[in-house]
Amino acid sequence: MFLNPRPTSISNFSGSLTGELFDMLKVKVLEDAEDRVSLQLDGVDRSYANAVRRFCLSEVPSMAIDDVVILENSSVLYDEILAHRLGMLPLKTDLERYILPEKCDCGTPLGCQKCRVLLVLDASAHEKTRTVYSGDLVSEDREISPISASIPVVKLAPGQTVKLEAYARLGRGKEHAKWQPATVSVLLDGKSEDSFVLKVESSGVLRPKEIVTKAVEILEEKLKEMQKEVSAKVE
Ligand SMILES: [Zn+2]
Repeated sequence: MFLNPRPTSISNFSGSLTGELFDMLKVKVLEDAEDRVSLQLDGVDRSYANAVRRFCLSEVPSMAIDDVVILENSSVLYDEILAHRLGMLPLKTDLERYILPEKCDCGTPLGCQKCRVLLVLDASAHEKTRTVYSGDLVSEDREISPISASIPVVKLAPGQTVKLEAYARLGRGKEHAKWQPATVSVLLDGKSEDSFVLKVESSGVLRPKEIVTKAVEILEEKLKEMQKEVSAKVE
């Protein structure tokens, strides 16, 4: 599909890339939808295009529940399984307002306002069997909540209760798949040797364009770090 093609340079697209490495790079937006983006990259080496593709999966952070404090659980699910299910819920992410726990100066195990979000679940079944959904989680930050309210978490029989506190944090896909912001990130060959098509589909936690922009930003940071290291060693 060729939707509203508009040629742009990566510096317009990311607002940050300045290195000589990408001087020749031209980016054309082939598709820009709610859940996916398709970009034509011209004038770039395959290894760099592939690094951006890979970073979309493994380096761009997103939010996921990482710690669960169970206060009460009389459901049939073991605490660990319940915690695991909560960890896999995709959470809307705001990369401007939260930082990775390892970059936060609070140094506390459960984190602070800058590096974690608390979600609370308090659900009981009374006369009838009840399914608890992702939407039953109450987040202290309305912007950071499950992308869908209708993901089943646990079934409760009459008289059963689940009461817990869940702590969501930023993390990266390379640590655990639950932090992977993209479900698909592929690189297809374009019309010439230095032309590629990058297709990225978001799991819904970040806008697809944001994933690619962030991936480029992280690649740029890593290259700068490497440059520093190398020149320090060579001097
Ligand atoms: Zn913190």
